[in-house]
Amino acid sequence: MTSGLAAVAAALDGARRVAVYCHVRPDADTIGSGLGLARILRALGAEVSVTHPGPSLPSGITRLITDDAFSAPLDAEVAVAVDCASSERLGDLEESFLAAPVRVVIDHHATNNGFGTVNLVDPAANSTTELVLAVADALGVPIDAPTADCLYAGLVTDTGSFRWSTHTGHVMAARLLEAGAEGRELARELLDTHPRAWFTMAAAVLGSARAALDAFGGLGAVYAVCSAADRGDLRWDAAESLIDLLRTADDCEVAALFKEGEPGVWSASLRARSLVDVSAFAREVGGGGHRLAAGYTTRGTADEVVRAFLERV
Ligand code: 5GP
Ligand code: MN
Repeated sequence: MTSGLAAVAAALDGARRVAVYCHVRPDADTIGSGLGLARILRALGAEVSVTHPGPSLPSGITRLITDDAFSAPLDAEVAVAVDCASSERLGDLEESFLAAPVRVVIDHHATNNGFGTVNLVDPAANSTTELVLAVADALGVPIDAPTADCLYAGLVTDTGSFRWSTHTGHVMAARLLEAGAEGRELARELLDTHPRAWFTMAAAVLGSARAALDAFGGLGAVYAVCSAADRGDLRWDAAESLIDLLRTADDCEVAALFKEGEPGVWSASLRARSLVDVSAFAREVGGGGHRLAAGYTTRGTADEVVRAFLERV
């Protein structure tokens, strides 16, 4: 196992067939990283596939998608997983990824243990697309406008519209806009567009929020549930942004949102303001993530998953 930017660039430089993999419940960072990296490697003459597991693409990224954007994984000499904290995050693509002789991991999750044969894992990066840009620079590939769109999409979403971006993220944004990224259009489509039925769902979910003020040693946790019934006919990712509203509770350090996908299967999103390491909590229950933004998957009724959470905090 090797690690670092130079090792990843060396593994990709001259690779003729590359299979790129995105994570389950794909977001704009994994898709932007995957499609952006594919464009960068194709510029070097490689044949590249990009594949994502289900349930389906996230809303709002049509600007990044061309007819041939995705395909089944190539039988490739090099496989690349983007934005995946662990190989399980590849869902039903995990086996295919693990079968490749050279496995590259490009990711920014603190909980990533380096499951590739070559790893570029940097928790200081704002987004995985920030690391993909570093790979492009190491390979000497210029960034054209469609690639800039892909990289910007991951950056603007993973930084909450730059609210928690570092200086590096702002410099990267300026560079991508200079290269032709359509920043305003991407932000509007990725973050500021909802079907009107979303308002009804958001009102129900936020209206059901409760607080456990004694949780986390008295720092407090606010929590809410979005059941499959709350979501109704809305897409699987309709509730993804609600955690950013829950986390604004002025009397709680931690926010938790339980989102039901398949009946009885819940994705839990955790956020902390600044003091609690929610990735440590998530890891204890089989998940992972970043210090201030993490998640895990769990099963049961709404009451059961909430009770199990409250018992641990
Ligand atoms: P979100 O709340 O936006 O779904 O996820 C926040 C972070 O937690 C993501 O960066 C993601 O990597 C991590 N995360 C969310 N759900 C899971 C999960 O089921 N397993 C693991 N390992 N990480 C997760
Ligand atoms: Mn990410």
